[in-house]
Amino acid sequence: MALLYHQVLPEPRPGSIIPTVSVEQFRVQIEYLTSVGQVVPLEDLLRPSPSMQPRFAVTLDDDYQSHGEHVLPVLQRYGVPATFFLSGRWMFGLGRYWWENLDQAIADRGLNDVCRTLGVRAETPHELATHLEIDFEAQARIEELVSPTSRPISEGWFKPLFESGLGIGFHTLHHPRLTRLDDEGLDQALSLGHAEMATANSAGPLLFAYPHGRAGRREASAAEQAGFAAAFTTSKEPVGAGSDRYLVGRWEPGALPLPEFSAELAWRLHAPIRHVTS
Ligand SMILES: [Zn+2]
Repeated sequence: MALLYHQVLPEPRPGSIIPTVSVEQFRVQIEYLTSVGQVVPLEDLLRPSPSMQPRFAVTLDDDYQSHGEHVLPVLQRYGVPATFFLSGRWMFGLGRYWWENLDQAIADRGLNDVCRTLGVRAETPHELATHLEIDFEAQARIEELVSPTSRPISEGWFKPLFESGLGIGFHTLHHPRLTRLDDEGLDQALSLGHAEMATANSAGPLLFAYPHGRAGRREASAAEQAGFAAAFTTSKEPVGAGSDRYLVGRWEPGALPLPEFSAELAWRLHAPIRHVTS
């Protein structure tokens, strides 16, 4: 089973549009995984298992500073591997993702003010975020709503990830929903920043995680063509040697307390594996 996390913070802000778990919730879940099975490098899940023990892999998506600050110390404490699926925005001088700015703007100014300023109607932060996914004009204006000093990105935040020797994968530079792109746009999204990330990582073909976790057969073929070793969705199925390498599921447990986490994990481990389909 491959698990997915996004942001891990000491005190997650309630109502944040970024999926966030607390450091303690993350620690408890990792500790549990090590107590009931083996946490292995992500690519090992796609190979036949040498033992009967359940195997887990930990993955983290997006360019978040919390990966180095809060995730690495927990991983190192338990001695477990993980794979970080990064966009590599820093290599292109790009700042935070638009939704991080949106999250900040909503926290600073309130949802109504942000909606009014962007000229968009939404009842909840998630509704606004979903709308902005395809409203590129409004997306571009969010940055103006946030003071650049309100949450600065520390320079070189990504270096500890590369120095840790843990897995680095690619997640596209601009994080579009690939299923909405035409064929040309899809190929572009898979190639823009791919070579730079591969060079920065220098450990052979990269693994890939689909932005928003969404992919079908067309996106899977394109990811294979683009030279990735395997590609991961958020479709929640367990992973095995027979999994479709370009549509591998991951499960995001979020902030589930331990009893629910362990129960759902046990249930999900017994779900059928997604095999290659034509
Ligand atoms: Zn993402």
